[in-house]
Amino acid sequence: MTAAPVQVTARGAERWKQGHPWIYRTDVAEEPDKEPGIVRVTDRRGRFLGQALYSPKSEIRLRLLTRAETPLDAVWWGGRIAAAISHRMGIEANAWRAVHAEADGLPSLIIDKYGPWVVAQLLSAGLERSRDDVVAGIRAALSPQGILLRNDAGVRRHEGLPLEVVLAYGEVPEVVEVVEGGVKYLAAPWKGQKTGAFLDQRENRALVARHARPGGRALDLFTYHGSFALHLARPSAEVIAVDQSTEALARGAENASLNGIDNISWREANAFDLLRELERRKERFDTIVLDPPAFAKTKATVTRAVAGYKEINLRAMRILAPGGVLFTCSCSYHVGRDVFQAMIADAARDSGRRLQVITVCGAAGDHPELVNVPETGYLKGALLRAVD
Ligand code: SAH
Repeated sequence: MTAAPVQVTARGAERWKQGHPWIYRTDVAEEPDKEPGIVRVTDRRGRFLGQALYSPKSEIRLRLLTRAETPLDAVWWGGRIAAAISHRMGIEANAWRAVHAEADGLPSLIIDKYGPWVVAQLLSAGLERSRDDVVAGIRAALSPQGILLRNDAGVRRHEGLPLEVVLAYGEVPEVVEVVEGGVKYLAAPWKGQKTGAFLDQRENRALVARHARPGGRALDLFTYHGSFALHLARPSAEVIAVDQSTEALARGAENASLNGIDNISWREANAFDLLRELERRKERFDTIVLDPPAFAKTKATVTRAVAGYKEINLRAMRILAPGGVLFTCSCSYHVGRDVFQAMIADAARDSGRRLQVITVCGAAGDHPELVNVPETGYLKGALLRAVD
């Protein structure tokens, strides 16, 4: 790597010192080549600060890889991926996140393992240039039968990168069977949401199932392929799983038969409308799950999003049976933990219910957050019990 280094301002250098791996466009002083890839970064006096992924078209210009001068080749990538994997032992599932980007010191890189296959996402222009080394590193660390790159995530647009799905190595099937705490479901690596399934809720699904009333009535709103519903079906007498997508529900039903489960009814509806109807009919549920999509996609839509979250939470609280539990969550990065908790408090007040906090939770442990990098956390949840 002989290219001229990228120089950053004192403020840029300070961010790395503070433990945040990103340096923004406005804190870059000199960028001689405008070619994405791994670059050396110095301060304005030419002092070496580290090596970073460089994205000349993105507001996030630099993502720190290391403060060392070592060559960042396939062996380095393999080593760092292996280090991340070493922190993920004992997961009760055959699908889990092996690398959670910034939080594992591998900015803009997501690696999910589905049985013997790997689905990865390369989410920055700088990283894209190291694609061959990253793929070699994944092969060295995980010896998979195939590696699929789900590089169709919208954030790649900010990097000037094409949205594409690419088979980088071996073969990856259309459908993969995931076994999670004894429950089976099918993931779709090529076409499903994210890398094929919502792995971040794994621990929360087990949590809710543990707290569901035996022989009770459960409601899973925004069920997608039914993964919460499947976990609730065992303790509960009856589960109603709701989604507005026919296709998602069909997959959910398929998953149920895969497990020999026949006590889930799949209901196509808008969750907002259905909640209103259930309330009007005075129906009651012992267990309710609210796992909506991100209502706030940008900062500007937070207020409206919070109103939406509050509405579904308020109505869910109202139809909760005495002693019943509600699992509620938000995956909107722009809705912070404090805002989320204030929303719950607000809804609880308006519902007139007395609600205990059983647990406040986030994403599963294989999707860690970095203490000083709020961007690594997006999922927040709470398990509540009605005690009035
Ligand atoms: N609980 C799922 C993930 C939910 S993803 C899991 O753990 O795997 C969000 C789902 O909400 C999608 O399937 C989408 O179709 C559905 N959805 C979005 N808006 C909706 C609405 N207003 N009513 C019902 N379903 C909705």
